[in-house]
Amino acid sequence: MKRASAATKWRRRRIAPAAALLAALALPLRAAPHADRALEQQLLATMQVLASDDFLGREPGTPGETKTLRWLGAQWFDIGLVSGTNDPAHPWFAPVTVIARRPAFSLARFGVREHVIGFDDQQALVLTSGRRSLVEGAPLDFVGRGSIPPRAELAGRVALLLDRAPPDQREPDDVQGSARQNALLAGGAAAVVTILDGPRSLASVAARRDRPGYALSGEALGGDLEAFVTAAGFARVLAEARSSLDALERDADRPDFTPHPLGITAHLEATTSETTIRTHNLIGKLPGRHPEAGAVLLLAHWDHFGTCAQPPAEHLICNGAIDNASGVAALTEIARRLAKGPPLDRDVYFLATTAEELGLLGAEAFAESPPLPLRSIVAAFNLDSVAIAPAGTAVGIVGKGMTGIEPDIVRVARAAGRRVSDSTAPNTYIGRQDGWVLLHHDVPTVMITSAYGDMARLQKFFDGDYHRPSDVVKPGIELGGAAEDVLLHVALVRWFADLKTRPGASPMVH
Ligand SMILES: [Zn+2]
Repeated sequence: MKRASAATKWRRRRIAPAAALLAALALPLRAAPHADRALEQQLLATMQVLASDDFLGREPGTPGETKTLRWLGAQWFDIGLVSGTNDPAHPWFAPVTVIARRPAFSLARFGVREHVIGFDDQQALVLTSGRRSLVEGAPLDFVGRGSIPPRAELAGRVALLLDRAPPDQREPDDVQGSARQNALLAGGAAAVVTILDGPRSLASVAARRDRPGYALSGEALGGDLEAFVTAAGFARVLAEARSSLDALERDADRPDFTPHPLGITAHLEATTSETTIRTHNLIGKLPGRHPEAGAVLLLAHWDHFGTCAQPPAEHLICNGAIDNASGVAALTEIARRLAKGPPLDRDVYFLATTAEELGLLGAEAFAESPPLPLRSIVAAFNLDSVAIAPAGTAVGIVGKGMTGIEPDIVRVARAAGRRVSDSTAPNTYIGRQDGWVLLHHDVPTVMITSAYGDMARLQKFFDGDYHRPSDVVKPGIELGGAAEDVLLHVALVRWFADLKTRPGASPMVH
């Protein structure tokens, strides 16, 4: 987020009174909130703590997590929340176990009649989606540039694929290559061997795959086996089989090409190393008078990347000020206001998720073992990277058109003096935020924020400080829209937690 320019400050002064006037004219159900400086200061103070170097970039399973959760838990306790884990063995902090996997061992050998041809690390890379996968002496079927034979023909066989796509379908090769490999594996192949005859090199494939992959522990592992071989390396095998790469390419380009065996067998083996990360979701609750009538859920991810730059860079920590100290600060201020206000009918849950940056894993863990039945959640609101836009910005909805709660949301937002953007552009980001996991579990979830009301500003953040060490609390950081978002969420929670405005047990029923 760039420092607010003079022009921005000018616009802010002009727009804020105009928005208040509009809101007054719209005959709101409640007094129209408009951003107040005290609230902006509170958001700023929380962000300054969470995004300080002292919190080490809030990486799951590190002392940065301990500091973050200890501090945040104490804040929520002081506000008056109670533990929301509903698990006396684990108050406040719900354990989440994440497994990080990296390729560890790779072996490729090919047999032609009685000859065995070994490949070294410079010529072949074998990868598995599981812990250890092996095929031994399985026949190779040449499938050209990715023709997919019927399942029966592929089962138990190894598909040999040319990496270079047909001339009429050349897209970025890595995208296309993996799509074809996945289709062949889904089609029943025991493994897929790709001959790197196109622009991709073995080094580039290896570099892409050398990053750890993350998953929740206990998640079923695949056993997919993929191998990549250099064209030069595989030419030796083809020569032994009295063929050549040229012959394969000519063959693949024939209009009547059908997959066929080559008289070559494959021995492929790969293992993965695993590291366990023990981390936590923080869950608080504001108990309602009628918990049997369901609950409202608010969430924001607390985690970020820890140390993310290499020397000689001077600042090595990714502090994650906007992403997502801003969302956690907003969540905390919403809790503070609701706790001070009149009692609510439904329970309100506050969830600070872990491992969002590793693939929405904390949200997934919450959905897999929720502290309350997911179907009893009448509405859920995610807050991610909200410190983007100035006061007076319209709100955009990530998840627009995807839930039944939208008419109520629009009504509450308008009553609160907020313009609601009609754009569906925010939905481009639907899969990149925790709400996506809840939607998959049929929890009506949206992210409604000023940050998505001005897509050009948001894009500037994504192009700039996003996921970089420069995402720090800068002087003059824009919090006007975030403060208005806090007030909007307070109004939304009051609406959805009230049995008069939002009767019934669950939107699945009504
Ligand atoms: Zn992020």
